[in-house]
Amino acid sequence: MRIGHGYDVHRFAEGRKLILGGVSIDFEKGLLGHSDADVLTHAVMDAILGACALGDIGKHFPDTDPAYEGANSIGLLSRVGELMREQGYELCNLDATVLCERPKLRPHIDAMRQNIADALQVDRELVSIKATTEEGLGFTGEGLGMAVHAVCLVDKEDKGRI
Ligand code: MG
Repeated sequence: MRIGHGYDVHRFAEGRKLILGGVSIDFEKGLLGHSDADVLTHAVMDAILGACALGDIGKHFPDTDPAYEGANSIGLLSRVGELMREQGYELCNLDATVLCERPKLRPHIDAMRQNIADALQVDRELVSIKATTEEGLGFTGEGLGMAVHAVCLVDKEDKGRI
């Protein structure tokens, strides 16, 4: 078994859509980024790549490449799932924590879990997403941006268990 950790931050900006876990959330601001700036999906991808020692999303999907401008991050996650399986790993579970003051994410959590599970071709029960505020402290507390921590566990598919 191997563990992976991912962390990502994006700042809020006017005139951008807020996309989290592939869900478009109605809010006054969105996240700034070269792709769709889906900070949750980015942290999840880095956790999986980390568990497989395959580098990070900057290596696989460079933000200097025009191909990834406005990219659908859930589509990139599907590719990361393929890379994981090509290395002979399967996902045991993943757990992500979104740090933001607003908006409230609870109504969207199950849809995000489903999108991420579908992209990785796993059961939704393997995907946990939580949200917390930072009590008004720091950049998330001041509503300047969002941060996400993600961890995952992967295992070799063909360990020949008896
Ligand atoms: Mg990012």
